[in-house]
Amino acid sequence: MQVKDYYKILGVDEKADAKQIKSSYRNLAKKFHPDANPGDSTAEDRFKEISEAYDVLGDEKKRRQYDQMKKYGGFAGRPGGAGFDFSGFDFSGFTGGGPGFRGGSGRVHGNSSSLFGDLGSIFSQFFDMGSAGAGPFKQSARGADTRVSLTIPFELSITGGKTSFTVGKEKTCTVCEGGGAKPGSTVETCSVCGGRGTVVVGQGGFGVSRPCSACFGRGEIVKNPCDRCHGSGRVEGKRTYTIRIPAGIESGKQIRLKGEGRPGEAHRPAGDMLVTVSVTPHRFFSRRGHHVTCEVKLSLKQAMRGSKVKVNTVHGNKVVLTIPPGTRDGSVLRIAGMGVHGKGADGDQLVTVKIKMPAHPSKEDQELIDEYERNDGQ
Ligand SMILES: [Zn+2]
Ligand SMILES: [Zn+2]
Repeated sequence: MQVKDYYKILGVDEKADAKQIKSSYRNLAKKFHPDANPGDSTAEDRFKEISEAYDVLGDEKKRRQYDQMKKYGGFAGRPGGAGFDFSGFDFSGFTGGGPGFRGGSGRVHGNSSSLFGDLGSIFSQFFDMGSAGAGPFKQSARGADTRVSLTIPFELSITGGKTSFTVGKEKTCTVCEGGGAKPGSTVETCSVCGGRGTVVVGQGGFGVSRPCSACFGRGEIVKNPCDRCHGSGRVEGKRTYTIRIPAGIESGKQIRLKGEGRPGEAHRPAGDMLVTVSVTPHRFFSRRGHHVTCEVKLSLKQAMRGSKVKVNTVHGNKVVLTIPPGTRDGSVLRIAGMGVHGKGADGDQLVTVKIKMPAHPSKEDQELIDEYERNDGQ
């Protein structure tokens, strides 16, 4: 979408003063006035444009607001860009008429008293909807956010890293290329707006243009809708995303994919995709803060005499853990650096020892049991 250049339309410099603007407007209006050019629709269009430009530039307050808005022009083309913030602007002056010209014969539907209705009309007044080939016009700021839940393995939640997932996502229909018409069928120019996609709303004087509701701003009426998309121009598709999971993520946390939500109407920015992460519980590992916890079962002999055992870590490697002699049931041994690592996180793996007591102790077992129980008393 392009911001209409009212200065160019009036043939004046951006720094022109009120007098220069008025004089240029008068000259042009005289030249292109419909009375002076009977039956010349180009001249009529030009006259409307000139009137529209003067309606804004001829009014100090409107001109100031237009200048501000012009500065932000071109934002709509940026994919995933931030939506336009209207909050600093006062649009109250825009709905009235302008210089004495009775233009616009189009029928108008819709509720012009709503806030969004007014914003919409201002939007379409400043941004040239017709030449941008705008799609159906709805007055929402941007496309809706979509929500996706993503289940990830426990290990990935600790280590972080890339993962991929596939979701259904609306795409432009390839059969009709988004136009909604059956290929080869005739598309009629909208008779209400004459194919411009906008209609002019006049109230006693020269009005403002707003999107045509008969054709939803397309400028065309589809008589034979596309079989594939039934005229919507969009079809369900699939898309695979690869995203980076931050180390130490917990269930319920959200990852926002900017601009990957539903497409915005009429070239507005798309919404975001909110990915809610769910971590699959692990049969061996658990988590306590930045630490990973687990249990290892040892024989009484391994614990009492000391030993070395191999322990799995979430980082994919096995670590040899030294069991010191005289280790008690419930002791916690630490494998450094095998927990969550990242911003401010320096987690370890905490291994809790579980001793399997022999059900039918041999003579050697009995000695170990006695020794273990003697130590117990200390
Ligand atoms: Zn289609
Ligand atoms: Zn129309």
